[in-house]
Amino acid sequence: MAPPADPKLMDRVVNLAKRRGLVFPSSDIYGGFRSTWDYGPLGVLLKRNVKDAWWRSMVQLRDDVVGLDSAILMAPKVWEASGHVATFTDPLVDCRNCRERFRADQLPDSGACPNCGSKDTFTEARNFNLMFKTFVGPVENDASVAYLRPETAQGIFVNFKNVQTTTRKKPPFGIAQLGKSFRNEITPGNFLFRTREFEQMEMEYFVPPDQAAKWFEYWVAERYRWYLDLGIPADKLRIRPHDAEELSHYSAETSDVEFVFPWGWGELEGIANRTDYDLTQHAKFSGEDLSYFDQESDERYLPYVIEPAAGADRATLAFLLAAYDEDEAPTGDGKVEKRTVLRLDPRLAPIKVAVLPLSKKETLLPLTDDVAKALRPHFMIDVDLAGAIGRRYRRQDEIGTPLCVTIDFDTIDDRAVTVRDRDSMAQERVPLDRLVGELHDRLGVAC
Ligand code: ATP
Repeated sequence: MAPPADPKLMDRVVNLAKRRGLVFPSSDIYGGFRSTWDYGPLGVLLKRNVKDAWWRSMVQLRDDVVGLDSAILMAPKVWEASGHVATFTDPLVDCRNCRERFRADQLPDSGACPNCGSKDTFTEARNFNLMFKTFVGPVENDASVAYLRPETAQGIFVNFKNVQTTTRKKPPFGIAQLGKSFRNEITPGNFLFRTREFEQMEMEYFVPPDQAAKWFEYWVAERYRWYLDLGIPADKLRIRPHDAEELSHYSAETSDVEFVFPWGWGELEGIANRTDYDLTQHAKFSGEDLSYFDQESDERYLPYVIEPAAGADRATLAFLLAAYDEDEAPTGDGKVEKRTVLRLDPRLAPIKVAVLPLSKKETLLPLTDDVAKALRPHFMIDVDLAGAIGRRYRRQDEIGTPLCVTIDFDTIDDRAVTVRDRDSMAQERVPLDRLVGELHDRLGVAC
């Protein structure tokens, strides 16, 4: 059972995101462009940390996965071969009364239009292709049509041979890629959850066919663990296997890692056994032999593929929602006040350390500068001079900064600063010559 969903949580997080420069509506001064969002100075750091954590766990810490960065625009034949031109569709219906469009599979059971409330006014469902079409070169005709990629995976499949031969990797091995994908979603919404432009974190793991079932289990468990390890509580996460009707055309087995969003369970990531579907299709359409010859067993085969496919924006949203908390903190005059705190894992926090001189007086500023210069090569820091120290702690708490370093008048003589912990609010005096090591110890190695 999941904890009860909090309907107000989304508003609080969207407001905080805008107020603190995490995420802005795209084209804001023009009234916004529904379904796309811009990451501000803190948001770009947060999302980059999510992507770095993924890359670290999928590529850096493994010897069986290599990286790739393929182009967004690809030969149109790729999308014919993959099945996207023919089948990458959602069922679309119009309400005859208000003319609003909806995904047929997301309509309420009541048959009422979610926009105008009129009953049984929907048209028959028709298939709507989600790929964005564009034209390459100066002439707009059928021969110049190209698509913005709707997934990063196909860039990996078409490079399978290039990567395998240049790295001399043997199955089981994987190719990981991070990057933008585009889908003309019928009903974007729920903030970063469903947008028309988003970033994916995908890995294709090529295995001997008889090992596919084993590696599927492995990657489902591994990817679930990744979210847990980065701070999403176990009662807000679950693994949901797809039933037969729900499976994509290429998949033999799929399980989603789901998070309990404020509106209910939603997919964070899908792990699929794509069989040899993609390599078979690309071999057929390109005429290239994409099989692998295993010298040890003297066998030639088309590898099966296990794919963990995650979204960087959805994961960022889940980490924000899971981290959002409100509690109480002491004020300077001995009372308590409400505080908003993002309990982000230090690896994800946009700012790792805030440097706060107790006062703006001249005597503390050169020291503040020295401390900032010493810390900058090691951590993303923020120097905040404005306002009472309690207010500055609150500002750092609400963006999830794990540690604050306060420089006070004693620092001039004792060459020590106060390190304050975001979660416990405990404070400890630390000598300046041990500061970098102490902060590293508290934040953990991967910060
Ligand atoms: P959904 O059922 O929610 O549309 P999907 O099953 O089509 O998602 P996949 O094709 O498996 O999604 O894509 C892998 C991941 O990419 C998803 O788990 C999600 O995190 C992310 N993703 C897919 N579509 C979007 C989108 N429109 N906006 C943001 N992230 C997305």
